[in-house]
Amino acid sequence: MTKINKNIFKAAWSYDEAPESTEHVQIKKQYDLYIDGKFVKPSKGKYFATFNPSDHKEIAKVAEATKEDVDKAVKAANRAFKGWSELSGKERGKYIFRIARLIQERAREFSVIESLDGGKPIRESRDIDIPLAANHFFYYAGWADKLEYAFPNRKPKPVGVAGQIIPWNFPLLMAAWKLAPALATGNTVVLKPAETTPLTALKLAEIIHESGIPKGVVNIITGAGETGAAIVNHPNVDKIAFTGSTGVGKYIQKATAGTNKKLTLELGGKGANIIFEDAAIDQAVEGIVNAIFFNQGHVCCAGSRLFVQESVADLVIEKLKRRMETLIVGNPLDKNTDIGAINSKKQLQTIENYIKIGLNEGGEIYQPNCKFPKNGNWCAPTLFINVSQSHRIVQEEIFGPVLAIQTFRTIDEVVEKANNTPFGLSAGVWTEKGSKIFHMTQKLNAGIVWANTFNKFDATSPFGGYKESGFGREGGLHGLKPYVKFE
Ligand code: NAP
Ligand code: MG
Repeated sequence: MTKINKNIFKAAWSYDEAPESTEHVQIKKQYDLYIDGKFVKPSKGKYFATFNPSDHKEIAKVAEATKEDVDKAVKAANRAFKGWSELSGKERGKYIFRIARLIQERAREFSVIESLDGGKPIRESRDIDIPLAANHFFYYAGWADKLEYAFPNRKPKPVGVAGQIIPWNFPLLMAAWKLAPALATGNTVVLKPAETTPLTALKLAEIIHESGIPKGVVNIITGAGETGAAIVNHPNVDKIAFTGSTGVGKYIQKATAGTNKKLTLELGGKGANIIFEDAAIDQAVEGIVNAIFFNQGHVCCAGSRLFVQESVADLVIEKLKRRMETLIVGNPLDKNTDIGAINSKKQLQTIENYIKIGLNEGGEIYQPNCKFPKNGNWCAPTLFINVSQSHRIVQEEIFGPVLAIQTFRTIDEVVEKANNTPFGLSAGVWTEKGSKIFHMTQKLNAGIVWANTFNKFDATSPFGGYKESGFGREGGLHGLKPYVKFE
């Protein structure tokens, strides 16, 4: 087995600070609800604060939409439906293209706001979240006038008013995943971002307004879980698209059962990342880091369960630990930062609680020495070894930078272990053998299987899960289907 020369890792680089400027960013002190083409005050006049998770400072206040406000937004969307759905696909496409271009033009501002409000490293919001969000609008704008090619010999019709509820881990990107296909197919929308990360969705409301899209086609309202529930339960909403936790997903499925509402659920995950002994090990180690530490591990499709073939396990774990020592945890706006702030105090507590559970169950922990900034929500990248299938940290979604490592000997063994989970969202396979990749993709029960890479997203490619990870697909041609009906 290859031995590692430990000395070469000792002199890890240190970097000077390289913070992104916030001067070009415009954030209002207070945001209202975007309903019927106007920013309007919430009916009860209540506002709540959104904070910067890296210093706990308040960034802005946003409106809390009540049941009455939801009703107003749904009615506006209902009124706008006829005009929007009867517009030619080409005309609808023009507005969506315009939104895409406006996101690109304002990309720098969007990235800074995303990192300020949610805690993710600026490198990620700048290079992944925002470009991908623009990409989704571009992609679906292209479909708007080609729907008869998407569904040959069938006549796709829009569903009506779509209620869309999104989480805090990819705020703008999730809004794009929801809005772009809904608009391309001629639906109107009421969208609610998450409580802790409403600002890029509100910025998006501003540019949607700027795009000149007819009033009421897109309504963006902020609020807590109750606002989301009011959207779900509104009788004039025709489709619910939800991304979030499995718990809330189950509630929504119950609430919509027996109604005519169409439903898609993008829920949690516990992705298996599988390293075979013939994999390019250094590449795989980078892949492991990307799979679990990207976006602080707040990723539904994170590779949070690592399976390493026994013959290379010691080597992989040692290399991984060394790599973890070089990860920079800190200011999300610093361009050197690899791991930003945990999104909320509540989420940090959840993660810390899981780390305790892992220790109490007998897992062996490793965390590098990290220097955290003074305030804010921080968690060191963490791995656990000596855990087994029955451990809670192996079974349950932690949604943080915590990796559970197990080993395996044979393909059958790893397939059985990887599939032994209530979830079925993502998996990764690392091997030099193409035939092994094809074998694994057939056997793994996951909506997405990455080969020799992880956490790669593309607007043209469908994304979604099995089992408790939900149903329905977003992205690609498949992503149009939940928003159309056939006569
Ligand atoms: P969450 O608590 O389920 O919240 C998701 C959204 O639903 C938020 O906007 C939330 O509002 C709202 N909500 C809460 N209770 C509701 C209710 N009773 N009725 C309707 N809406 C309600 O999830 P989260 O903690 O924000 O996000 C993390 C979860 O999302 C993880 O489990 C992750 O795996 C999953 N996720 C899945 C995907 C995917 O594509 N499969 C992608 C990203 C994330 P508040 O913010 O005000 O609570
Ligand atoms: Mg916030």
